[in-house]
Amino acid sequence: MTPLSDTFGRALRNLRISVTDRCNLRCQYCMPEEDYVWLARENILQFEEVGALVDVFADLGVDKVRLTGGEPLLRRDLADLVQLLARKPRIRDLALTTNGVLLAERAPALRAAGLHRVTVSLDTLRPERFRALTRRPSHAQVLEGLRAVSAAGFSGTKVDTVVMRGVNEDELADLIEYGKTVAAEVRFIEYMDVGGATRWSMEAVVSRAEMLKSLERRYGRIDPVVEPSAAPADRYRLPDGTVFGIISSTTAPFCESCDRSRLTADGLWYLCLYALRGIDLRGPLRQGVSAAELKALITGSWRARDDRGAEERLRNRHRTPLIALTELKRDPHLEMHTRGG
Ligand code: SAM
Ligand code: SF4
Ligand code: SF4
Repeated sequence: MTPLSDTFGRALRNLRISVTDRCNLRCQYCMPEEDYVWLARENILQFEEVGALVDVFADLGVDKVRLTGGEPLLRRDLADLVQLLARKPRIRDLALTTNGVLLAERAPALRAAGLHRVTVSLDTLRPERFRALTRRPSHAQVLEGLRAVSAAGFSGTKVDTVVMRGVNEDELADLIEYGKTVAAEVRFIEYMDVGGATRWSMEAVVSRAEMLKSLERRYGRIDPVVEPSAAPADRYRLPDGTVFGIISSTTAPFCESCDRSRLTADGLWYLCLYALRGIDLRGPLRQGVSAAELKALITGSWRARDDRGAEERLRNRHRTPLIALTELKRDPHLEMHTRGG
């Protein structure tokens, strides 16, 4: 099969599927408000509908799927969706991104259902800091969840940490050391100005260069891991062999090789994290169009894709948050928790 390419020759391979826009945390950089305009319940895709869309995407070259949210573990019976997707041999990589709060009880069932890998978002090892950052007292549950992931037999586990100045930039080495204890590779994510990050400012971004400098002070020489990949993390090796990653989406974006797109829980397909509009796949799906028609819609949209959202933002010298709160309230699809991060 000739891979489907966009206007910059980027293949369609990686699909992030948000299964809910609801969340049990209120991270300051993602959901700073307490209340939100939620997606209409009747528009949320059923698991069979997600499965049907994944078949069409797999026909077009998608072989990596990541379930996300909102908080995906809030979706009842998520393991059933995992099982449905795990049975599709063309999906070589089936992963989950979660805040970990509900993971301890779910990890064994997710593993049994055929999930390949888990990424847990964790920004701090300090309970009080966690409470201030997420406005929920669930830190111990997240740590418990991470222990349960390795106990359930998962490998390839990752811990994703958004690094913010004045919040947690003093914990980089502690998080790497913690990652070793739960067999997880830690990835530091530069704070991004998307969706609900309405309080974002460039001053609060800790750049990849700064992170490396600070870690070198602690560990000595850090070598980049050389690998050809479309993955967004640049990986580095410490003198003791420990590998960690940095996702420099803000200061050194990787749009050039971006093969990912996003499906919201209500079936809108976004070609870029920064895209202002999505393509409605739920409508045609529910109208009963054929798989061939859906394939044509997806093919045409991907071939025309010219998004390089993060690179374009980089050219803006006086950068402020991408979207104002009033606009987010008008269209919840602009939110990070709707797009799945
Ligand atoms: N609730 C799940 C979680 O937190 O892992 C899945 C959805 S969350 C939107 C996915 C990822 O997006 C998380 O790792 C989160 O830290 C990241 N994220 C959200 N807002 C961000 C921002 N403003 N900058 C960088 N990363 C962000
Ligand atoms: Fe935090 Fe994820 Fe919830 Fe956003 S969706 S508030 S990043 S836990
Ligand atoms: Fe891909 Fe858009 Fe992110 Fe660039 S900004 S890496 S094109 S999703």
